[in-house]
Formats: sequence, structure tokens, C-alpha cells
Amino acid sequence: MISTVETLSRFLETNRDYKVYDRSVRQLDKSEWAMAKVGQEKVLLVVGDEDVLNRLEGRVKEGVKVAPTNHANRLVLNDLFSFTKPTAFGNKVTTMGVGDRLGLASPGHIEVMRNRRVRPILAQQSIRELNLTSRTIYDVLDAAAFAAFQEGYTDGFGADGDHLKEKEDIKLALDAGMTMLTLDCSDHINNDVESYSKEELEERYFALPEEERQSYEDRYLNQTFDLNELELTFSKDELMYNVLLYIDALNYMVLINEEYILPATQDIDFEISIDETQTVTKPSSHFFVANELINQGVTVNSLAPRFIGEFQKGVDYMGDIEAFEKDLEKHALIAKHFDYKLSIHSGSDKFSAFPIITKHTDGLFHLKTAGTNWLEAIRVLAKHDPELFERMHKYAFEHFPEAQAYYHITPDLESIKPIEDVNVADYPDYMNDRNARQVWHVTYGVLLTAKNEDGSSKFKEEFFKSLINLEDEYRESLINHIGKHLDLLNL
Ligand SMILES: [Zn+2]
Repeated sequence: MISTVETLSRFLETNRDYKVYDRSVRQLDKSEWAMAKVGQEKVLLVVGDEDVLNRLEGRVKEGVKVAPTNHANRLVLNDLFSFTKPTAFGNKVTTMGVGDRLGLASPGHIEVMRNRRVRPILAQQSIRELNLTSRTIYDVLDAAAFAAFQEGYTDGFGADGDHLKEKEDIKLALDAGMTMLTLDCSDHINNDVESYSKEELEERYFALPEEERQSYEDRYLNQTFDLNELELTFSKDELMYNVLLYIDALNYMVLINEEYILPATQDIDFEISIDETQTVTKPSSHFFVANELINQGVTVNSLAPRFIGEFQKGVDYMGDIEAFEKDLEKHALIAKHFDYKLSIHSGSDKFSAFPIITKHTDGLFHLKTAGTNWLEAIRVLAKHDPELFERMHKYAFEHFPEAQAYYHITPDLESIKPIEDVNVADYPDYMNDRNARQVWHVTYGVLLTAKNEDGSSKFKEEFFKSLINLEDEYRESLINHIGKHLDLLNL
């Protein structure tokens, strides 16, 4: 009787169009597993145990089960190989969110983080991104799981329901197996407080029940909070401001914790995001939110304040870097005091900020990146498929105003060279131009959902086809670009 290994290698000898990913080859009890690419498709190849084979969708060819990398088979994979399931990391592991809008970036992300002092949150998609790319949360999890299998990556990855606001989305994400939840409380933060007069502030504050006010005042007034090198005190005005700014948001955080986080069957890294506000988060506000949460028994794994200066998408930090360092240092001390990780959103390409982040957090933080991975895909296209790049570029620039509505960015469009004046060989240089980067950064949805008159997709299919063929180039590009992030973060 021939062995499972022999059956598989014979199959590959006679079917030369199946290209096996070397690192995916593994054994499980009496079955042999591998992942292969055939044409544009990725499939699992499995030989052995009848019971195992029967669990997978697919067909048997020359004694080998050829199983598509679909959702049903991902669930089987999760069951048999636990490393393909997302995991929670807790507050002592540095993590980096690497949103993969296309479902093609994870192999590169895994490779660049392998053997570094950081774990990847491979699946990380906001509802906005899912809608704009017409993907589901299941697609995102499937892509991450198959990537871990393809790369033989057994160190674990996370999955983040990113910037979720609504209960139904939170439920969906956690039921789907997400292991991190980033709760976006911006709808419950009362930004009007900024413009209140002193009378208005007092009036609204005194409208709260006396008992509640007294409890805040006992806990915050006439005392100093000593956080190593940072001392915080609250004046009555500051306390009133923070109470009115965050009272609804805090109630919502506690509610979500009680209704969804605590009852969940899997471990969850719970992140609180208060970054999507109009104003910078004052250190005293950060402290207030954290202190209130912890008083109410909420375990915070990471918290994202809004830092001073601008963290615009896809470009370096904008603003006074020294002021940023002073600001970040305080937020880092608060995070250390409460024993959670500071979380930095829109973290792509913030090269001048990275060494500062590592210095003040002692290298323990969560950093989110997303769009930069899409930009690297475009760089690959510019280099290897300039014809398609050119058409997409023109469309992106024509339709930029629609896309801009979703994101806060301020590119100087005038300064971007018209593509007619650029040599084809220089197309990749657009990805080094901060203004062009921003335009590309936000137009992914417009591009991927663009339709021809007959209803067919204008770029989507062609784009995916091209990028799947350029798999190795995309992988290299991500290793290089995210690697630069990791080097400066000293991870
Ligand atoms: Zn954010």
C-alpha cells in the first residue's frame, strides 16, 4: 500500500499546474495536507483518513481530495488545526493590526512579523471598509485562516471587529469568532461640551442627580493622582467637562461589556476607542475614562485616545513632533498605570512617530494600520501592470470627491503630476508622493465598486486577477514596507 505522502507527491508529479506552498505541507494523524495554487484558485490537497476527507467540500482526484478554500472548509480547518483560529493576546503582547482590504495581504504580513516581537491582528475590518469592498466578516476571517495555513504560521493571529458602534455589528463579529473588539464610542461622546459656556456647563451638570454628582466629586476633587512622573488633579470645571463629555459613552461601554464581552465564549481583547472625536483627548480625560471603566469592573485591554497633531491616512505624522512626544508620554503613563496597552490608530506610515511610541510605551502597544496595505498593492500594480494602473489612477482622481466624504484627509491635488506627463516606468513613484497616496488611500471603495454601463465591474475582477498573478511581488512589497514600520518600532 502506498503512503499518503507518496499519493500526494504522485498527484503533484502528474498535475504540474498545482503549485504547492511549501510551508503548508503538514501531517495530521494519518492524513497529509497541503495548500496549492492552481490557476487563479487556491485549494487544499488532502490524502488519508476517509472521515477527514468526507468533512471537506470538494472532489477526489487520483486519490487526493481537492478542496476549495471556501468558508465551509475553513471551519473544518479551524476544527482540526487550532492555529488557524484567531486568538486573543491580552495586555502583555505587542500587537499590530494589519487590515487586509483585499484578502490577499496576510501571507506577506505573516512573513514580516514571523520571529519579531509582535503578533499580527490579520483580520481587522471596519463596517465602513466591509461595505466599501462588498466583503463580509466571514470573508475576512476565511482569508486570515487560510493564510495562516498556507504559511504554516502557528504563533497565533488575532481578529478585530474594528471601530464597531452598533450592537448588531458587535454581536455578528463576536459570533463569527472575532477575538478583539474595538468599540467606537464616538456617537455617545458629547462633543457639544467644547462649546458650552460656564453657565451652560454648570446648568447641565447640576441637572444630574445629586448622589451621582457627589460620587464624582468625592472621587476626583481635592486630590492628586500620582502616576509615577505624571500628577493629575481635577478642578471642578474639568470634572464637569469630563462628566458631561463622556457620561453617555461610559454607560455604553459598560453596557457592551456586560451584554457582549463578559458572556462571550471566546477570550476577547476589548479595546476602547475615543479617538474619533473633533478634539484632542486631554490626559485628564483619558484618565477619567479609564478610571471610571475600571471602577465599574470593565477590563480594558487597550485604549485609543486622540493624540495631538494629525494622524492622516497613509502619510507621516503631521504636526509638532515634540508636542506629540510630550502628549504621548502622558497617555503612555496613564495606560501603564491602569495596566492596558495604548492603542495608536491610523498608524500606517507614521515613521517619525514610531521611535517615540516605542520609547514611552516600553515597546508594549497596539498599532493599527490598514490602508497602507492597499497602497502597496497599488505600487505593485504600478510596476507590473501599468496599463491597469493608469486607468484606475484616472478614475480615482476623477472620483476623489465622493471618496473624500468618508475620510478626513487634505491632499494638495494641484501638486500631483498629471499622469499624462509621467513616464510609465515612473508610475510607482506616485506611491512616494504623499498627496497621491492620500487620493489612492481613500478611493479603494469607489474603484472596487465601479461599474460599467452593462453592470459588470469596471476594475474589480481585472484588479484581483492581476494581483493574484503578482502574489509574490505583493508579498515582497509588504515585507519591505511593513518591515520598515517594525524596524522603526524596534520590534
Ligand atoms: Zn480610530
